[in-house]
Amino acid sequence: MKSQYYLKVDKKWPNNCWIEGEGRYALVAFCRDISITLHEDLQDAIEDKQFINECGCGGACHKAHVIYDLEQRGFKECPQ
Ligand SMILES: [Zn+2]
Repeated sequence: MKSQYYLKVDKKWPNNCWIEGEGRYALVAFCRDISITLHEDLQDAIEDKQFINECGCGGACHKAHVIYDLEQRGFKECPQ
């Protein structure tokens, strides 16, 4: 069964190539393809972002990686 967070990001970015994980913090990579990783914990999302910033998210990565808090209205970008 898909969670409310999964459904939220899938609706917001219907052209995503994949969505993984679970949680209120969405790490979204807007590089060649849109890929989304959900995290329960903001710190996990930040560490994951640092990792893909260093190693690339795959494909033609140009470090367009953003974390959103799905509990905030209007997909607020998290301060990092
Ligand atoms: Zn990337």
